[in-house]
Amino acid sequence: MAKLLEGKPVAEKIKEELKKQVSAMPKPPVLASILVGDNAGAQAYVKSQKKTAEGLGIVYQLHSLGNETDEKSLIDFVNKLNADNSVNGIIIQMPLPAAIDYKNISRHISPGKDIEGMNPQNFGRIVFGQAQILPCTAAAVMELLKESGVDLYGKEVVVVGHSEIVGKPVTLLLLDKFATVTVCHIGTSKAGKLEEHVKKAEVLIVAVGRAGLIKGEWVKVGAIVIDVGINRVAERIVGDVEFEAAEKRASFITPVPGGVGPLTVTMLMRNLVEATKAQL
Ligand code: NDP
Repeated sequence: MAKLLEGKPVAEKIKEELKKQVSAMPKPPVLASILVGDNAGAQAYVKSQKKTAEGLGIVYQLHSLGNETDEKSLIDFVNKLNADNSVNGIIIQMPLPAAIDYKNISRHISPGKDIEGMNPQNFGRIVFGQAQILPCTAAAVMELLKESGVDLYGKEVVVVGHSEIVGKPVTLLLLDKFATVTVCHIGTSKAGKLEEHVKKAEVLIVAVGRAGLIKGEWVKVGAIVIDVGINRVAERIVGDVEFEAAEKRASFITPVPGGVGPLTVTMLMRNLVEATKAQL
C-alpha cells in the first residue's frame, strides 16, 4: 500500500519559515489580486488565498473588476499596479471572461511582481535553469517529489498533460534534475499510446482534468504518483488517477483533495516573499 504524499504538512513547514521571513521585513508584503467577473470557482480561490496570506502576515488586496472588463482595461489596470510601489506581487484569478486571453495579460505583469511565474521572461528563465519565480503548481509538484525522497537522476518520469501552468514547466524542472522525461498529451491518447507510456513510469505526474483517465492497473509497482487533477464527480472531488487501485501498486501517491492543492497556494506566498525580498 502506498504512503500518502500529503500537501498540508509540507505546506505547514514552508509557511512557518515564510512567517518568520515576513515578520523580519520592514513592512508586510502586499499581494494585489485581480478578480474579473463573478466566477464562483475564482471567488473560492480568492477566499482561500486571502486566509493563507493573512495567516502569514501578508496584506491581501482584492481588486474586483466587472464582467464587462476588456483586455485593454485589464492591461491598464495591471500597469497601474506595476507602477504602484506599495504593491509587491500581482495575481490574476482564473478563469477570466472568455473575451480575455490570459497570455496577452501575463506578459504585462512586471517580471518582478509576477508571483505566478507566467510572464514569458520568468517562464523563459526556467529553460536556462535560472528561474527565480516558478509557476506555483509546478513548484508544488517538485516540493512533493522532494518530500518523497526520490532521486530523480536518470528516473523514467512520465508527465501527462502539457499545459503552460503545469505540464510544461514541470517537464523543464524535471529535466533540470536529469530525469528522463516523457510528456504525454491529447495526441498520445488519440494515438492509443497513453497506457504504454504510463506503465513505464517510475514517477508519474498527471495534470489533465479527467477523472479516471489513468487506470490503477497501469501504475507501475513501486511508482511515485502525483495527481494534480481536480474533478467533481457526484459531489466528490477526485483526481485523474483511479486512486483506490493505484494506491495498492504505488510506493507514494498524492490524495485528491489534500495533495498538490494545499501546497499550490503556499508556493504563491513563497513567490511573493521572494519577490518582495528582491524588491527590498
Ligand atoms: P489544461 O486544460 O490547461 O491542460 C490539460 C492538459 O491535458 C492539456 O495538455 C491537454 O492536452 C491534456 N489532455 C486533455 N485530454 C487528454 C487525454 N485524454 N489524454 C492525455 N492528455 C490529455 O489544464 P491545467 O493544466 O490547467 O489543469 C489540469 C488539471 O489540474 C485540472 O483538473 C485542474 O483543475 C488541475 N489543477 C490543479 C491545481 C492544484 O493546485 N491542485 C492547480 C492547477 C490545475 P491538449 O492541450 O493537447 O488538449
